[in-house]
Amino acid sequence: MMTLLEAVNPATGEHMEDIQETKIEEVELYYYQARTAFEKWSRLAISERLIYLKKLKSVMVENMDRLAQVIVQDTGKVPTEALVADIMPTLDAITTIVKHAEKILSPKRVKTPLLLIGKKSYVEYMPRGVVLVISPWNYPLQLAVVPVISALAGGNTVILKPSEVTPLVGKFIEEIFQKAGFPKDVIQVAHGGKEVGAALTAGNPDYIFFTGSVGTGKIIQEVAAKKLIPTTLELGGKDPLIVFKDANLKRAAKGAVWGAFTNSGQVCMSAERIYVEESIYDDFLNIVKEETEKLIQGTNEDSDIGSMTFPKQKEIVKQHVKDALEKGAVLVSGSPPDKWDDSMFIQPIILANLKQDMEVVCEETFGPVMPVIPFKTEEEVIKLANESNYGLNASVWTSDLKKARRVASRLVSGAVTVNEVLVSVANHYLPFGGTKDSGIGRYHSEEGLKIFCHEKAIILDRG
Ligand code: ADP
Repeated sequence: MMTLLEAVNPATGEHMEDIQETKIEEVELYYYQARTAFEKWSRLAISERLIYLKKLKSVMVENMDRLAQVIVQDTGKVPTEALVADIMPTLDAITTIVKHAEKILSPKRVKTPLLLIGKKSYVEYMPRGVVLVISPWNYPLQLAVVPVISALAGGNTVILKPSEVTPLVGKFIEEIFQKAGFPKDVIQVAHGGKEVGAALTAGNPDYIFFTGSVGTGKIIQEVAAKKLIPTTLELGGKDPLIVFKDANLKRAAKGAVWGAFTNSGQVCMSAERIYVEESIYDDFLNIVKEETEKLIQGTNEDSDIGSMTFPKQKEIVKQHVKDALEKGAVLVSGSPPDKWDDSMFIQPIILANLKQDMEVVCEETFGPVMPVIPFKTEEEVIKLANESNYGLNASVWTSDLKKARRVASRLVSGAVTVNEVLVSVANHYLPFGGTKDSGIGRYHSEEGLKIFCHEKAIILDRG
């Protein structure tokens, strides 16, 4: 039986074309084809493989308008967000890989100790084999394509399963790889949801790169552990944004508004907990309220924020806000959940008078909600920020850079930005990834290419 994935524009409710789901029975064939294609692809010189990546970039640039349109239709994002935060970082990642992969992945001579004098030692980077990439719906292009191209550059073949929530983008990705002319089956795209994802995970990949929820990440890790399949898991976050009284208040407030509400908060490194030093707390609240109420919601070029993408996510946001209001939180901006309409838009919400046990403070909300919490001392705020199951990104806002470095070093987090937010992912030379429930492993940077290869040690004697 043929199953179809429905593509619905969440902002308008418009039903677009349906995408045919990959059949579970086809999974075996995907792996067979991927392993067959690996024979040749893995033996190409890196420089030859990078030619295909360059072509991919040209195809993306040629199809940029259509690509942005498809992302907007699938997610309900505003067009600027699709361009700036999904397409551009993907192009930038391709550029960085094309520029540096050869150097990073070529054999490296290492020192030979006295004991082995006269011999040569070096490290080679051997592709792992077939890499399975499972990707989410919030940045449906970038979070699928970046791991795929990193794995391909290293000589692996790839099976990608994009999110069923954004099937048009998934189909578009398949088409751009085809147009770029990659050899047959070097990259295959499987369309479908949880069942297809689970069947692919059980299908014996040599590496799994997963981006998505903590729950699914743990399921995948369990399956992978039984077969000793290595994984990278890019999961959720509950990022703290810490504002000290000596910060540029206006800049910090605008940063918080941007960090909490961009993409309607559907960002793994959204600012989801705003800690503000007590003496500036009221002033800060006034500015964030004023800035938030200027935001335009909609889907056209002038809009600042679009809709929620996934109906299930809107329900989670609703539940978190309801729980907070029932436990005594104060609504500073936005409307209470019982006044929300049936659309996928949620007016940005600011909450005060919060307690650490409220869902909105301790669980990932993944929506346009900004909880603002006062603190008294540096020691206290470090403790509060670290009191979380997550540790993806954090930001510190202060004019005292010594203090900024001190606090940054003590935060249990994959990245920390100072007087900035959401930018850690913009530098492809930096590693990106989480601590605790935010995930395992790093990508981008040198590490992001090396994870897809075995490091092989070779010792050479002239004999
Ligand atoms: P969300 O609920 O935010 O969509 P998920 O973690 O469920 O996050 O989804 C992220 C990706 O993981 C999607 O591509 C989805 O289809 C896939 N997925 C969901 N469940 C499983 C599973 N059990 N095994 C493999 N992949 C899965």
